[in-house]
Amino acid sequence: MTLPRLEPLRLLALPSHDADEPEDVYVATADGEWHGNHLDPNSRDSPASALAGVADAAQETVVELLWQAWPLCPEHGLGMHPREDARERLSWWCAGEGARRGPAHLHAAVGALDTSGERVRTRSR
Ligand SMILES: [Zn+2]
Repeated sequence: MTLPRLEPLRLLALPSHDADEPEDVYVATADGEWHGNHLDPNSRDSPASALAGVADAAQETVVELLWQAWPLCPEHGLGMHPREDARERLSWWCAGEGARRGPAHLHAAVGALDTSGERVRTRSR
C-alpha cells in the first residue's frame, strides 16, 4: 500500500505470546511502528476477510500514528472507509458531502487505490 509522501506500509510478523500459536501479523509503517491489534489469524481462511483485516489495520496505523485521514477521496478530500459493494467486493467508501456536492459513493476496490508502485512489503523477525 502506498501513501502520498510516505514510505509504504508493510506487514510485520512478530512471535505470539503463546509459543504454540502462529506469529502475530501487524500492518506497520516503514519504520516498524503500528497501532491497534494484530490481524485475526482466522481471517487467513478467507481472502475477503484477510483483505478487510489488512485494510482496517492499515487505516488504524495511519490514522493513529500519522494523524491523518487515509485514504482520502480525491473528489471530496474526505477519509474513506472499507465497505462491501453490491458484488461483495471490498471497496473504499466515501460519505460524500450531501446533496449539493455529491452523495456517498464507492471510490475504488480495496487494494486498487494506487496501482503505480503499489506493494506491501513482508518481513519476518
Ligand atoms: Zn467522495
